[in-house]
Amino acid sequence: MKRLSTEMLTFTEIGGAGEMIYKAVRFPDYYWEFDHEIKEDVIVPVFSYTKRPTAGTDYSLTGLELLANLCNLYRKINNPDSSANITELVWDWCRNNIHPYYIDDLCDIIESADFKNPNIYERLRGDASFLVSKFVHDLSNLGSTFEYYDVLNKVYLEHDASAGRKLYYEGRIRESIPLLEKYKQYTDDDEYIKQISAKYDSLMKGVITLFPAVKMNLKQNNRTKKIEMGAEVHSVFDIAWYSFVRMVATVAPPPDTNPDYMFSQSSILTCMACGDFFVRHSSRQRYCNNPDCQAERNNRKARAYYKRKKEYNPKLSGEKRSLL
Ligand SMILES: [Zn+2]
Repeated sequence: MKRLSTEMLTFTEIGGAGEMIYKAVRFPDYYWEFDHEIKEDVIVPVFSYTKRPTAGTDYSLTGLELLANLCNLYRKINNPDSSANITELVWDWCRNNIHPYYIDDLCDIIESADFKNPNIYERLRGDASFLVSKFVHDLSNLGSTFEYYDVLNKVYLEHDASAGRKLYYEGRIRESIPLLEKYKQYTDDDEYIKQISAKYDSLMKGVITLFPAVKMNLKQNNRTKKIEMGAEVHSVFDIAWYSFVRMVATVAPPPDTNPDYMFSQSSILTCMACGDFFVRHSSRQRYCNNPDCQAERNNRKARAYYKRKKEYNPKLSGEKRSLL
């Protein structure tokens, strides 16, 4: 898919084809602490004169990849069986991805900052620090909406009833969206799929009401000085939501159900080995890039190959060829 790099997300970028690439801010490291005044965990960036933050267009992470990454983090955090510390999971995400908040503002500060001036350190640290609770709140809005959208398509397009049934759970930070709850009464899988498919359009209408409005405003492009209509980008959640908007708007399924459609069109798939979301880079890809999953894929391919070989070559299977 074509990659678009942009300083500003205009109507063209949000409504158009290709994958969005936006500016990113990276700090060398972070720590987290409990703020006794507000009684909440805060994540604070760590940087110095020699290890400075960077800002600018980041080609390593597209909007869709951000969306998939954040939705995987949401599942990890919301997993009712997990006892992992939520603050540490968020901290870890920031260390391995990009800075989540105040992207436009921080880019402006970092691009023009004089790191010889000692005042810049405290200012930047103060401006870039954020509450874990805010991150988790934004994450759960995005993650639960994506989860519901994904499940609805799995039931409708792939006829996967178990994906739908797995949606009813009480997570650590929130419950799943209860829009499929009333279909629980259909214990027969075929009937369950039939009932949900019959209501697919109105259920999908319910999904899109969960999307936040895209806020557009006049902005001056720093590089070209041109004034353009651009979307407000404050956080990685804004970028992820815009990518999600594009995905839903451009990948709207055809009126007749076609089980191959999801695989041929959808840009974010579920890995067949680990179950994580990943961005599809080729039409046949079914596994994420994790080396364990790639190994699993190769194993399964080898087993399938051996099985086929056995079927064609009776000697290998130990059967006597009766016609000889
Ligand atoms: Zn995987």
